Amino acid sequence: MSLLQQLLALHRVDVQVRSLRSRLAQADHYLATQQKQLDDLVAQRGDVELQKKQLQAHVANMEMESKGISDRVARLRSDLNQSANTKQYNAVLQEMKSVELQKDELDEQTLAQMERLEQIAKRVADFETVISDRQSLREKALAEREERHRDTAERLGELERERATAAGLVPADSMVRFDEVAEMHDGEAMSEVEVISARHREYSCSACNTEIPFAVYARLLGEGGGIVQCVNCHRILHLPAEAEATATKKR
Ligand SMILES: [Zn+2]
Repeated sequence: MSLLQQLLALHRVDVQVRSLRSRLAQADHYLATQQKQLDDLVAQRGDVELQKKQLQAHVANMEMESKGISDRVARLRSDLNQSANTKQYNAVLQEMKSVELQKDELDEQTLAQMERLEQIAKRVADFETVISDRQSLREKALAEREERHRDTAERLGELERERATAAGLVPADSMVRFDEVAEMHDGEAMSEVEVISARHREYSCSACNTEIPFAVYARLLGEGGGIVQCVNCHRILHLPAEAEATATKKR
């Protein structure tokens, strides 16, 4: 088997290995995305829950303060009833009015905070639905990922062994070159030379359409042995099947 035939055999199995790995990577990525979105939602809910707790404590303090003021008003009312003279009566009445005013203000503020608390409680509750939906999506993604790994594990193992065998036949320096180009083009390491016009000796790289000089084509036709790359896209060039068969007979 010539070097190019070895590389083509390697390429055929390499493409399949890459395709399967990419399918697995997609499933992994989808699961990771779902997990990340779920984690973000749980963190957001945590923030809102904390706000809720802090506000609850604040409202409880305000209610306690209001109760203290009510007690004070009650004491003042009893003082009022027991006041000895008008002067004392008026003084107590004045104080009572001022304290009642204070209480009204506080109660108004408390009410506003309670309304805020209600809104926050609603936001916490809303998170439940969204999180539960996201959990279902994550479960589905997890199941899909596991199914995909299970389904492809055996086939991928086979292909990886085939690839190793094919790679074992390729000389080390050519292997390095193949891997470099394969990485560059997402597995598309090889490109067939397209014969535009044999009569006019016009050829091109079928992957990137760059013109291939006749000298390069002639190297592929000849004994060669080395790798010939497209000057533009660097893919490893090979002859069309028919031209290869004819060239093999002549060699
Ligand atoms: Zn090219």
